[in-house]
This record gives sequence, C-alpha cells and structure tokens, in this order.
Amino acid sequence: MRDLLVDIQKLNKKYTLQSGMLNSKNRVVHAVNNVNLQILKGETLGLVGESGCGKSTLARLIVRLEKPSSGFISVKGENINSYNKESLKAYRRNVQLIFQDPYSSLNPRKTAAVIIKEPLTIHRIGDRNARRQSVLELMAKVGLSGEQAKRYPHEFSGGQRQRIGIARALILRPELIIADEPVSALDVSIQAQILNLLKDLKRDFGLTYLFISHDLNVIRHMSDRIAVMYLGQIVELAENKDIYDSPLHPYTQMLLSAVPSCDPQKKRNKATIKGEARIEDARGCNFQNRCIYKSPVCEEQQPVLTEKKNKRFCACHLVSAKEEE
Ligand code: SF4
Repeated sequence: MRDLLVDIQKLNKKYTLQSGMLNSKNRVVHAVNNVNLQILKGETLGLVGESGCGKSTLARLIVRLEKPSSGFISVKGENINSYNKESLKAYRRNVQLIFQDPYSSLNPRKTAAVIIKEPLTIHRIGDRNARRQSVLELMAKVGLSGEQAKRYPHEFSGGQRQRIGIARALILRPELIIADEPVSALDVSIQAQILNLLKDLKRDFGLTYLFISHDLNVIRHMSDRIAVMYLGQIVELAENKDIYDSPLHPYTQMLLSAVPSCDPQKKRNKATIKGEARIEDARGCNFQNRCIYKSPVCEEQQPVLTEKKNKRFCACHLVSAKEEE
C-alpha cells in the first residue's frame, strides 16, 4: 500500500467573468467543483478530460499559484493554504510544474544552463561549482550534452526545449511533479521519446507524477491510476486497466469510443462526443445534455463520486453501488 502524498478535499475554484457591454450580469464559472482526490507517493495519477474542464486550474491550485474558493489541499499532512511566504518557498522546492509549451515557458534571453540553474540560485543552494556540476549532470540525464549548455532556447528543437524544462523542474530534486500536457505541443514522433524519458526519470529519482493530458493514449501509456474530469468534477477514478477495459461513467465511455483505434471492430463502433456541454451549476448531473442514458433522476440530483466497485469510483446514478451488486 502506497503512502498518501496529496489529499484534496471538497476543493472549489470559482471565477467571476466580468459582464460585457450588452450583458449587465457577471457570470460565475465553477472551474473546479467539489473535487476530492488523493495522490499516492510513487504513483503516476493521470488526469484526463477535454480542454477547459478544469485540469490546469487544479494543477495551479496544487502548486499554489492560485488559492481555492473553498476546500483544502494537504501535502504530506500539511494544509498548503495555511503557508506563509517562507513555507511556500520551501513547498515549491518539493513540488514542480512541467509546462505544456516549451516554446513560451523558457526565457529566450538566457542560456540553457542559466535556465536550468535558476531554481538553485533562487533557493541559494550550492556554490558556483556545485551548481554548474548539478546542471551538467541533469543535462546528461535528460539527454542534452554539456556543449549545449551555452546555447539559447531558439537554438533547440521543441523536444530539446522540453528536456530543458524537465531538467529545470528536477534540479531542486522535488518529490511531486505536475506535468500539464507536457507533450501536446510536440510532434508525435518526439512525444514518445519525452514520455519514456519522464518514465525513466520517475524511476531514477523516485518521483510522484500528476500527469495531465486530454490525450487518452498518452494517459494510458503513463498512468497507474486515472481520474476523469468533466466540467470541474472528477466523474471516474480507477486503475488504468479498469478504465480502459470497462469504463463505468458514460463520459469515460464516450471519450474512449472517440479514440482512434487500429482494431477494425472498434473503428466501426466509434462514436464522437455529441451534445452541448453545460456551463454552470444547474440542477442534476453536469453530463446530462450529452448522456444517452439520462433518466429523470439525472435532471434532479447531482451524482456524487462514490466507490461503486473495488477501488473504482464513479459519479453516475446509472452505475450501481458496490453493496447493491
Ligand atoms: Fe448520464 Fe445520468 Fe449518469 Fe449523468 S447521472 S452520466 S446523466 S446516466
């Protein structure tokens, strides 16, 4: 049994969108909606859902780039929202973010070595020689040569830039890495290289990953457990194999049926994601406008994420609970 690293309880994040000239009413968007989620030490927890479902907001809340509207996140038993400036700085040594876009996340005026070294400078770790040594070691670890240390970001390919971003995230030897769509801006041919690199680094550095992607093939390749997010809510959570072999939630089923497959039978069964998504917290299930199984209860009551089978959690009135089986 793995230890608990991150415990997220009843987490909410709401944004108020300012009204336009023709509309006097401000609109509230519930980006993260009553999320309960645990990340276990040493695992890769995949977080999947369509763009705009709240995945990146959740990532920013865990890194404490934003504060929640309500609820709490505890990491190693400490509530991160109670941190002052100093404890937040220490926390950020231990939790690092790998960004989606290696083009815009690197400072174009700094060399690769300076970019990778910067966190050591900020946290005042090591002397000049020790920092230089750490940078060179890490560059080798992510597949970059020492000769590339003095080059600028525009002199690297997209995959190499992402390697720089990964090295920078690892230089402080964090425990938790949040990888937010780390390969979606890369060519397909490069994606597998970066994913395999991330797997190797996880093993070698004993890391824990929250791995965020809209791509179910990528999530399948990387994850131990998978959480499926829809309009700010976790609608299914299970082991990798269970999600792909027998998804419980209609949204997970719909996502999987839309994944391109080499199997001709699966190609025939392919269904696209249909229907309008709901935006706000209206009554009932958030997925009802798109769900082919919708029943009257779905319009009245919002389903709650509960354990339906052994370690399989789902938020749907349709799926029978464990004790009812
Ligand atoms: Fe569909 Fe109802 Fe389940 Fe929502 S609760 S996913 S509308 S069956």
